[in-house]
Amino acid sequence: MDKLTTHCVIAGGGPAGMMCGLLLARAGVDVWVLEKHKDFLRDFRGDTVHPSTLQIMDELGLLEKFLRLPHQTVTEVSAEIGKESFKVADMSRLPTRAKFIALMPQWDFLDFLAREAARYPNFHLTMEAEVVELLSKGRRIVGVRVKTPEGTGDMLARLVIGADGRNSKVRDKARLKVRDLGAPFDVLWLRLPAAPDDPRQPVGRFVGGNLFVMLYRGDYWQCGLLIPKGGLAELKKEGLSAFLARLRTAAGFARDRVEAIKSFDDVNLLTVKVDRLKRWARPGLLCIGDAAHAMSPVGGVGINLAIQDAVATANLLAPILARRRPKLSELRRVQARREWPTRVVQRVQVIVQNNVLARTIRSQVTPRPPWPLYLLDRWKWLRQWPARFIGIGVRPEHVTSKAAVTPADNAPT
Ligand SMILES: Cc1cc2nc3c(=O)[nH]c(=O)nc-3n(C[C@H](O)[C@H](O)[C@H](O)COP(=O)(O)OP(=O)(O)OC[C@H]3O[C@@H](n4cnc5c(N)ncnc54)[C@H](O)[C@@H]3O)c2cc1C
Repeated sequence: MDKLTTHCVIAGGGPAGMMCGLLLARAGVDVWVLEKHKDFLRDFRGDTVHPSTLQIMDELGLLEKFLRLPHQTVTEVSAEIGKESFKVADMSRLPTRAKFIALMPQWDFLDFLAREAARYPNFHLTMEAEVVELLSKGRRIVGVRVKTPEGTGDMLARLVIGADGRNSKVRDKARLKVRDLGAPFDVLWLRLPAAPDDPRQPVGRFVGGNLFVMLYRGDYWQCGLLIPKGGLAELKKEGLSAFLARLRTAAGFARDRVEAIKSFDDVNLLTVKVDRLKRWARPGLLCIGDAAHAMSPVGGVGINLAIQDAVATANLLAPILARRRPKLSELRRVQARREWPTRVVQRVQVIVQNNVLARTIRSQVTPRPPWPLYLLDRWKWLRQWPARFIGIGVRPEHVTSKAAVTPADNAPT
């Protein structure tokens, strides 16, 4: 890669980066997405495509095609506390075209966005391209240095978008100040085999001091066990059989399958972070998605927010980017639009993680179900409100950026 010049470079091909790339390309912006991995086949990312994201797909005319990909639909969300089960969210009354969460491995979702974006000649995606440095001219960021297997090169752009996730190099290099909101736990991610007569809906279970989440993936269950921050070393010290005994307590109907975990190599640690930038932009640079605000897994809404940031960015900046460099005041409009929804969701996540989840893990006893759960379980119409929060979020975005390029019909779909 020699020196390349484009309208917009996006660091990171996650949900935020890929959706932003697709929308900008559709609006006529020459856009280059750089993804450091060689494919999207990484596990342990959220697999939820929310009703609000499905709505965006509909607005782009892609919903039917998207739903042809293998997926499961979730219309109700339940929680199990000890021996009691509570229905907590009901998607059937949502004011969206798709009244469900589509559960789909995230690599299928990202592959789909990549295929659709590739139909625009002004969209470019380079895999195995890691942004390692920001290029600046005075105070303005004017491009990125990229490392690929072929070597290192520079790309110059009117705007650099940092969509490189919770450990964003872009925001570090740009020296954007971060406010850490703290996360008292991490997640251990593991797989248990599925059986033909298992239920298919996702399960969230509180048993003893264990919080266990199970996502159905066809022939296996993707499972998450919450542990206190830094607690993996302690678990390893206690040994594998003690860990399996703990899994047996937590895994409910899958308890007889925990022997599938042969060693701690079958268990992956996912570090949870909750933070947000004080300023999402500086001249020539904007951060979105987890790079601007790392989300807790609580509620499984991080992807939703990342996508909404991408839509707002394209709505506000596409018409400018196609013509000229955006001014700092124009970049700040993205933060002005998206910061409030981010704050609201993070506030709820922090309350839940500090007051419910961390206490349960610390005390190692099954918590008493809070009274609102009984109300939600009893009245179906009440369950539409948690469903709105999870499925649509606060201040949903809609595609208002105009399509300026006709996608090529012969491109791979
Ligand atoms: C344990 C756990 C479970 C979760 N479960 C859910 C869930 O079920 N549902 C949900 O909605 N949210 C969930 N979340 C939150 C969700 O994962 C994030 O909020 C969401 O992925 C953010 O999307 P993003 O595009 O901003 O960043 P990411 O998804 O992190 O994507 C960033 C991309 O940038 C790439 N990248 C990184 N650095 C560079 C670089 N220097 N150069 C080029 N590319 C780079 C990465 O490889 C990656 O592909 C979970 C989070 C955790 C920790």
